[in-house]
This record gives sequence, structure tokens and C-alpha cells, in this order.
Amino acid sequence: MRVLVVGGGIGGLALGAGLRRRGFEVAVFDRDTDVAATGGYHITLDGRAQSALREMVAPQIMRRLLASALRLRDRDAFWDRRGRLLGRGPDLSGDAGVDVDRVTLRVLLAEAVGDDLRLGRTVSGVDRDGDGVPRVLFADAAPASADLVVGADGTHSLVARHLAGGPTNSPAGIIGFSGRTLREDLSPGERQRLGTRSGLAVGPRGAALYVGFLDPVGNAALDAPELRMSVTTGPTYIWGAMFPESAVTDSLRGLRQGALRAALVGRFRERGWAEHTLELLARADPHSVAAYRFNAASTRAADLAPWPAGRITALGDAVHATPPTAGMGAGAAIRDAAALLRHLGDVADGGTAPVEAVARFEAGMRRRGGEILTLAMRTVRLVLATDTALGAAATAATTPLLAAAARLRR
Ligand SMILES: Cc1cc2nc3c(=O)[nH]c(=O)nc-3n(C[C@H](O)[C@H](O)[C@H](O)COP(=O)(O)OP(=O)(O)OC[C@H]3O[C@@H](n4cnc5c(N)ncnc54)[C@H](O)[C@@H]3O)c2cc1C
Repeated sequence: MRVLVVGGGIGGLALGAGLRRRGFEVAVFDRDTDVAATGGYHITLDGRAQSALREMVAPQIMRRLLASALRLRDRDAFWDRRGRLLGRGPDLSGDAGVDVDRVTLRVLLAEAVGDDLRLGRTVSGVDRDGDGVPRVLFADAAPASADLVVGADGTHSLVARHLAGGPTNSPAGIIGFSGRTLREDLSPGERQRLGTRSGLAVGPRGAALYVGFLDPVGNAALDAPELRMSVTTGPTYIWGAMFPESAVTDSLRGLRQGALRAALVGRFRERGWAEHTLELLARADPHSVAAYRFNAASTRAADLAPWPAGRITALGDAVHATPPTAGMGAGAAIRDAAALLRHLGDVADGGTAPVEAVARFEAGMRRRGGEILTLAMRTVRLVLATDTALGAAATAATTPLLAAAARLRR
């Protein structure tokens, strides 16, 4: 069976690795020319995503991944805009989840796909030939035919758009800004407040700041320094600021580096954030600061992959584009890939017809997509709610009480 995968991001590479390992004929096409020269900060892989990965890559790749991944041990923190602690997330001591640089994950997966990964190949469309055989089209090369075509081409997927007859997601109403700040660049007070944990601060009038801590060198999930290949080489905060979309926040998207960083600090300051909480942004590496729009598919599983099963399908963000607010988009793409691989294994064993296998895979993907979107949209809705007059008043009134309660608990 010959499978062509459009998109060599996280889901497409995971699938390509798994298909190759199981002896399928596979090619993965990505428009990028270098898998390491890609955007991205850290990716969270929960226990289910790691189990799925183990099905698709060799044990040595998994070991190298875990030697480069951080296992978070401290409970997440929730702060208000003054930096006061409002509460803590659940105990993480039994949690299998790890955080890893997106670049590291992608490079390792690309290695597992080997020469079945074709870089610098921009796909211009998909269709079927006169006999109904699916094909991948290129602007600058002849079409390639396959038994199955899989669109793993991300949020703006042309494969999923072809199948659905239109976009599969829309803007979620939030603009995100991300950046990296070295822990050593912060004042001792902020270092202590932020600690070695992730956290979220939400203020009135639609301003929120997620802070992720990454230090795979000091806290690797697998203590094997000789296998380490993390891009992050020292204690680093990877942060994501969120604002509701508006003409004003939209205009920030045109700014770059230091100018964007300064404008962001200004937006938080206008909303009454304490000066010390903005150190994280003000001392970020200016080259790391970037803006992006959150897109989201429907939270209703039944709305996802709204096409009859056939020999062209899609997975990951192409189907269930998910804002990063739950840290589950990449894990879900990996789990999609593992599920498709399992169902295609049934075809290879002669037990299932290909279209039936795709139908079963898509049913599971709809459930998974609905679950992660529901979680991710909770934070999006919370941020949007604080932007209403009532929401702003409620946030301003309740956060001091929550902060006082948190102080008493300590
Ligand atoms: C640059 C970038 C940075 C990201 N950073 C983060 C992050 O820091 N944290 C986080 O949680 N999530 C991040 N994400 C999102 C996260 O990677 C995805 O949510 C998740 O991996 C889902 O994986 P996917 O395989 O469905 O899509 P993606 O990982 O987005 O991969 C899609 C791939 O398809 C390729 N592609 C698209 N169209 C075409 C075409 N026409 N022809 C050929 N190739 C095509 C793209 O080059 C890309 O490699 C990032 C995504 C990207 C693209």
C-alpha cells in the first residue's frame, strides 16, 4: 500500500515514521527546506501522546526525545495582574507529561522518516484521476498517485479544505504573542515568584499571560546527557500573551522584535498590570517575539471531518485546529497518526477494506478533536469574557479575594 502524506509537521512526520517502520511505501512532502529552520517553542506531550509515539518510532528515538524533554514537577500557578498567587493546579508528581522544543521533536521525527521525507515540495492540490485514484499535485512537478493521501498540512490545510469544500476552522477571536526569556535575565524577585513551573495570569479587559518553564538540561525526563539534543540549553521561560482581536491588537502584528516587545509591554501596562510582572516580556530576547492568530475548529465532534470517508483523508490541525491554550494540539496530531497507522495495519493484514479503515480512524479523530477543542476553548472564552464590562468588573473584584485566600492557604 502506497501512502502519500501532505505536510511534514508533527502529525505528518509521526505518521510517516510509523508507516515506514511497518513496511508501508510512504512519502511525506513538506514545503519547508530545512526541518530545523522552523518556528515553534515548546510542545507538551501527555502520557497518551508518548504511548502513541512509541508505536511509531524506534526506542532509540524515544530515548533521545525524553533525554531532551522536561518533566514538570511543580504544580501550575495562577496569578492575577499584580502577580499575586490565586491558586495552584493539580499535583503533577504522577503526571507522565513532558515538554519538548518543537524543533527537537520535529528533527527527531524527520530522522525517523529518513529519505521518505521530501523537503522543498509545495503541494498545490489533491484530486482523483479518471479511475478515482487519489493524487497529490505540485505546481512544479508531475502529480504523484497513491492508494491513500493524508493531509497533515496544518491549520490552513488545502487537503482538508478540498475534502470539506471550505475552511475547517476560523479565527478564535484571540491574538497571541510569544517569546522566550532566560531565567537568568530576570530579577531575583521575579525568578522566585515564577519558580520552575508553568502558570497563567488573567487580568481584566482581555489580557492574559501564559508562562511556560523549560529546562530540559536540568530536569530531563530521561537522565542521559549523551543523548540530549534540546534546542533550549538553559532555564528559560517561554511565554504567550493573549488579547482579544481588535483593530488595536491587530495593528501589533505588523511590528517586529524590539518594537513589538515594547508595544506589548505597553498594552499590559495600560490594563493595570504591575511593573514587576512585565519584566518577563521586557527582558525577552527581541528576536523571539512573534505574533500569531489563534484559529479553532468546532468543539462539536460531529462537525469535524465533515466528509464521507474515502481514499483522501486528513489529520491533526488540518481537521481540529486547536489554540495552544490546552497544550494538546501536537499530542492529538500524534495520536491521530498512531490511530491511522493501526487501522491501516488492519488493511495490510487483510481484515479491513481501506475505506472502512479510514472511516473508523475518522470517527476516533472526531472524538479526540472535540475533547481537546473543548478544553482549549475554555481559556479562550475566559480571556474573552474578561473583555466585557461585567467580566472586567468580576475579574477586578474577585482576584484580590482569591489572592488573599491563596495567601492564607500557604
Ligand atoms: C511554525 C509552527 C510553529 C508552531 N509552534 C508551536 C508551539 O510553539 N507550541 C505549540 O503547542 N504548537 C505549535 N505549533 C502548532 C503545533 O505544531 C501543531 O498544533 C501540532 O503540531 C499539530 O500538528 P500538525 O502536524 O497537524 O500541523 P503542523 O505541525 O502545523 O504541520 C503542518 C505542516 O504542513 C506543511 N504544509 C502546509 N501546507 C503545505 C503545502 N501546501 N505543501 C507542503 N507542505 C505544507 C507545513 O510546512 C507544516 O510543516 C506550531 C506550528 C507551526 C507550523
